[in-house]
Amino acid sequence: MEKVDNIIIGFGKAGKTLATDLGNRGETTVLIERDPNMYGGTCINVACIPSKKLADLASKKPADVNNAKYYKESIQEKKDLISKLNHANYSNVQETDNVRVIDGEASFVNENKVSVQLNSGGEVTYQADRIFINTGSTPNIPAIDGLEVDGQFIHTSRTLMDDEVFPEKLTIIGDGFIGLEFASIYRQFGSEVRVISDSPRDEFMKVADNEVAKAVLEALEDMGIEFSFGTETTKISKKDSKIKLTYKHDGKTGEYESDKVLVATGRKPNVEHLNLEAANIRLNENGSIQINKHLETSTKNVYALGDVKGGPQHTYVSLDDYRIVVSRLFDDGSYNLSVRDYLPHVTFINPPIAYIGLSEELARANGYNVKVATLPVESIPKAKLLKSTTGVYKVIIDADTNLILGTFLFGEESHEVINIITTAMNADLTYKELANQIYTHPTMAEALNNLFGNIDK
Ligand SMILES: Cc1cc2nc3c(=O)[nH]c(=O)nc-3n(C[C@H](O)[C@H](O)[C@H](O)COP(=O)(O)OP(=O)(O)OC[C@H]3O[C@@H](n4cnc5c(N)ncnc54)[C@H](O)[C@@H]3O)c2cc1C
Repeated sequence: MEKVDNIIIGFGKAGKTLATDLGNRGETTVLIERDPNMYGGTCINVACIPSKKLADLASKKPADVNNAKYYKESIQEKKDLISKLNHANYSNVQETDNVRVIDGEASFVNENKVSVQLNSGGEVTYQADRIFINTGSTPNIPAIDGLEVDGQFIHTSRTLMDDEVFPEKLTIIGDGFIGLEFASIYRQFGSEVRVISDSPRDEFMKVADNEVAKAVLEALEDMGIEFSFGTETTKISKKDSKIKLTYKHDGKTGEYESDKVLVATGRKPNVEHLNLEAANIRLNENGSIQINKHLETSTKNVYALGDVKGGPQHTYVSLDDYRIVVSRLFDDGSYNLSVRDYLPHVTFINPPIAYIGLSEELARANGYNVKVATLPVESIPKAKLLKSTTGVYKVIIDADTNLILGTFLFGEESHEVINIITTAMNADLTYKELANQIYTHPTMAEALNNLFGNIDK
């Protein structure tokens, strides 16, 4: 058994950032990762970066190109990029003084010991003063008769992005952000896409403002994406290289046939192989690890960061979890969950929808006296220049304080523009400051002059 200062389980955003930080502070640290294809974590290998790479390539597909050929080349281009990022992430951590990457699967022996089943065979045990769990999340596969991910016909987001065979027809189960992003990507690659959701139509994107969610749904339907709302998938079967999906809708049974099915029904915390009981680490009802505001688990000196601790699943949340832990370990702990700022969110459809804070409905339900303003994206010069005029901007203001309660930006480049709003909300700026700010021209951001200016009209 080897004694080190820190054990980090999982090469996620928080884990890798913490590993290099601890190493640079002179602390001996092992970072345990079970899958070499995941050096750098979920985001860069199988999630954010590959999906946004494909989204970019899909949006640039020339009209006169062979769909299957362009798609295959796009997947290959994505694989090249990811391979480079994976290697760069490994070197970055492994070459940091005092840090080693250990290839194997970790599980707790007790409160301060972790054993690793090495990928090369054999087992090692480490003892540490502190242990950090950053094992991420994994797709939730619903119990549907015949539903088994095979990476050829039935996919998760991870396996689909590696499959070079173009799906002429793709059925997506789930209309969360992953389902919608993939619907937008594959539709632009030229697939016929159907999204199946067990929720009713009027609950589409219920995290967003109603008015904006409606505009998003309309735009996706205009792209040619078919939606089946209030539809329960009851069975999956294979027939002559086609997948048959049996569903129930309004008490009636029907079937959809497609080349491939993507299962996009949420992700659950990755705790299965950790043997958390051995270290008395408690779970929440939904399977995530229980933490306090400093991300400490129920066991002293064991922390949980990123998706595995529950809450919003974003890479930037995992990074911010790292900040919380550093504040606890090396500062006064004053940066913690109780003071975390507003979180922006993006669904990278084309054009993207980005939002932060409360919808009009939620703001009213919470008793605020609200003022709202909207702006059609077609009125923005930069949108015309880009020939992408779909979308709408909407802001919700607290009429008593003039502070921004929420902003929903559906339109070209909104994933960038939202960061301005985040800064304004976190700095408690009133909407008037954004209404009167000088913006560069021509940009999508300059539309904030008119959007916030509309509050007073
Ligand atoms: C398709 C898709 C697209 C997404 N797009 C975005 C986006 O655009 N922007 C965004 O912010 N977020 C996005 N997300 C979410 C984002 O990817 C995750 O929130 C983020 O990657 C979680 O990081 P993490 O730090 O929790 O851990 P992860 O990056 O998930 O790392 C956990 C690591 O732990 C390893 N591991 C697990 N168990 C063990 C064990 N017992 N022993 C050793 N190693 C173990 C795993 O192999 C993995 O490498 C997307 C997710 C998906 C699925």
